[in-house]
Amino acid sequence: MTILLALLLLITWVALGLVVSKLVEQRRAMRELHQAISTRQPMTTAELRGGAGEEWEPLGRATDALLIELNSLKQQRTSQLAQLEATLGSLQEAVLIVDENNTIILANKSLQGIFPETKEIVGRRLERVLQHAEFLRYVDEVRRAKAEPRRELEFGAGPTTRWVEVTGTTIPPLNAQNGRSAIFVLHDITRQKQLERVRKDFVANVSHELRTPLSVIKGYIETLVEGHEDMPLGDRGKFLRIVERHTERLNSLLEDLLTLSRLESVNPGLRREAISVNGLLTNIMEDYRGRPAARAHNFVGQFDEAMPPLWLDPFRMTQVFENLLDNALKYTQPGTRLTLCSRWQEAEGEVEVTVADNGPGIPAEDLPHLFERFYRVDKGRSRETGGTGLGLSIVKHIVQLHGGRIAVASTLGEGTVFTLRLPVRDPALKK
Ligand code: ADP
Repeated sequence: MTILLALLLLITWVALGLVVSKLVEQRRAMRELHQAISTRQPMTTAELRGGAGEEWEPLGRATDALLIELNSLKQQRTSQLAQLEATLGSLQEAVLIVDENNTIILANKSLQGIFPETKEIVGRRLERVLQHAEFLRYVDEVRRAKAEPRRELEFGAGPTTRWVEVTGTTIPPLNAQNGRSAIFVLHDITRQKQLERVRKDFVANVSHELRTPLSVIKGYIETLVEGHEDMPLGDRGKFLRIVERHTERLNSLLEDLLTLSRLESVNPGLRREAISVNGLLTNIMEDYRGRPAARAHNFVGQFDEAMPPLWLDPFRMTQVFENLLDNALKYTQPGTRLTLCSRWQEAEGEVEVTVADNGPGIPAEDLPHLFERFYRVDKGRSRETGGTGLGLSIVKHIVQLHGGRIAVASTLGEGTVFTLRLPVRDPALKK
């Protein structure tokens, strides 16, 4: 009986031992399975075999197969995203992709070209990076399929303003979220906008400039037509001279506009030849010295002897110096000294020509605008002397067409200096 009891106890002990060891093995196998799933690392063959019995092995293998597939899908997605980034990165247009929560998933390099502040923005919320209410509204409208295909937006203010044309659409999610992503292509149209504004301003300025002399001419002609029979002869002559003066003004305006349009055309028609700048300047100065209007001014020439010939259009370059000298005569008092000076800057391969006066000077705030079309400092004096406000703009164009540049420096009460820099080029290189 005792032996039987001992045997039963032994059997129970052995069975219990077996069950406990099985349980331990199963716990280990579960831990390994959990470890494999959470680290996405498939189990090794040894781990599979050493598992908790045969029934675990198929489960382990199935899990491994799933993990291998998952890893390969992940790799595929990463390489697809990298490919997408590389493709979008090389685009000139700025591209931005955001997920359903407005988190930036992708932003290409061109976006930084438009918004330099958008460096390393992937993973950040759009509204934190581009705080622009209208753009965010557009993003929202695109999501709700309520947006027009493209919208023009203005970012910033003042000289840093950027105009952008943005096109947006929704796309399937690029990452593991449920909602749809949205892609935006941003096209920088700042330059077009600026040109548009310049064109509009130009048309408005031309109309304004034409309207004034035309209305004067019209008024006097009407008076003459209605009352010429009993008008005193003196009045008639006076009126006709006014009409003549304003017709001349119209004429100069149209001439200057035509010159500008020619200079700005694809083929400005420069006729270049090898020219001695000193010779050109001497001739111009002699011509001015002989003019009655310039007699009260004092012309001084300081020419560098060692001067290489320049490859210039003599007619256009004469126009440049005549414009500068005409201005110097118009805007300074009789007795003013006008100095024409040439200097050969060998190191830079440039010739420097300055046209200086010791007249009243130009206020500093006007200097940056001086070469703009229709910009006048002394409006009254300019109109009175038949100025069109286009002279310096024409000068700048001609100098630039010759590969040169022009600058102005002025001090009130001391005078003004215009400095031209003209490159010396081998004529053989310039056809
Ligand atoms: P404008 O036909 O009015 O002379 P410009 O383009 O030639 O037009 O010159 C622009 C303005 O620059 C002039 O209206 C004048 O006020 C100013 N200006 C040009 N040259 C001088 C100068 N030497 N001294 C003072 N003011 C000048």
